[in-house]
Amino acid sequence: MPLLEKIKSLSQAYCTEIVALRRHLHANPELSYQEYNTVKFVAQTLHTFGIESTEIASTGLLAEIRGKNPDKKTIALRADMDALPITEANDVPYKSKNSGVMHACGHDVHTSSLLGTAKILNEIKDQFEGTVRFLFQPGEEKNPGGASYMIRDGALKNPAPSVILGQHVFPILPAGKIGFREGMYMASSDEIYLKVIGKGGHGAAPELTIDPIVIASHIIIALQQVISRNASPKQPTVLTFGKIAGGTAQNIIPDVVTIDGTFRAMNETWRAEGLKKIKTMAESIADGMGGKCEVNISHGYPYLENNPEVTRRIKKAAEEYVGKENVVDIEITLGSEDFAFYSHVVPASFYRLGTRNEAKGITSYVHTPTFDIDEDALAIGPGLMAWMAVNELRHP
Ligand SMILES: [Zn+2]
Ligand SMILES: [Zn+2]
Repeated sequence: MPLLEKIKSLSQAYCTEIVALRRHLHANPELSYQEYNTVKFVAQTLHTFGIESTEIASTGLLAEIRGKNPDKKTIALRADMDALPITEANDVPYKSKNSGVMHACGHDVHTSSLLGTAKILNEIKDQFEGTVRFLFQPGEEKNPGGASYMIRDGALKNPAPSVILGQHVFPILPAGKIGFREGMYMASSDEIYLKVIGKGGHGAAPELTIDPIVIASHIIIALQQVISRNASPKQPTVLTFGKIAGGTAQNIIPDVVTIDGTFRAMNETWRAEGLKKIKTMAESIADGMGGKCEVNISHGYPYLENNPEVTRRIKKAAEEYVGKENVVDIEITLGSEDFAFYSHVVPASFYRLGTRNEAKGITSYVHTPTFDIDEDALAIGPGLMAWMAVNELRHP
């Protein structure tokens, strides 16, 4: 049987088992960097497949399947395992048993799908040359990003893989479809925390105060010009302040106002410049008005770069696997994803697995209490990634 057909039939055969794994993970979600039971479960499952793994980055796992001539080439496949602080609203048999925690970003799907890929590749390891490394990582949803710990602890060394691939569920695409994007795909994301310090007092006697509400207002309006007057219009970038807090009553001027925001970019040079601009402007506006502004920036993930050649190759592999009509190009997004860290170390590609099904009422977006997937996607995900892996290993 040709390898493509073999992988397809294995993916189909293992589907029920992979769905069961997904449901177990979904029912037992754990927050970022606390994936203790998840990592045990994944290690155990790999063990039953005959694959040994080692712990890395506290609650991450590394495993390898060595084919024939294992040192010829190494490629890496990645799944994230953490859940979100959301209370699940779905009434399903596999509903979260961990109240207030939910797999609302599909990381249960990524983990179970990659387990399926490992099972398939292990089955056919005498039919490919090279080594496939599996990265099961913690903490995708929370700074500084589990991927940065995986890299720090050597997941991309000894030897460095020539390619790393990541898959993410996509509730915009119907199940059965796969989405790709070459080049810049997702944004860097930094959290901005401004603390405007004035001097409070009576609302009727502003001359005795330094009004932080007025200073904060100026800062918010002025910072919009960081994007409109300093960033190149050719570069996607955004600055949003989503939270402002200060004051207790209509006639009292407070001492302090806080403003929290997010800054996104698709270019590391601009990202650094933009952050500097935000800091300088906020500080000097407050200073000019007699107050003070403390600026704290929590650095998030870099922008995600999908290597064009790798992306073209895996897209072609996907066309072979699911048919050309089921492979689509997707737009850039200003969302962020810690897979981006890998993409700045080795050639990488991050693609989307369609999981929507209108007929079944599965349409909720990720990070919502009603998010779910059409599990038919799990008949495709594991085999598709295995086929991509085999193709990458064949590539000279
Ligand atoms: Zn997420
Ligand atoms: Zn995610």
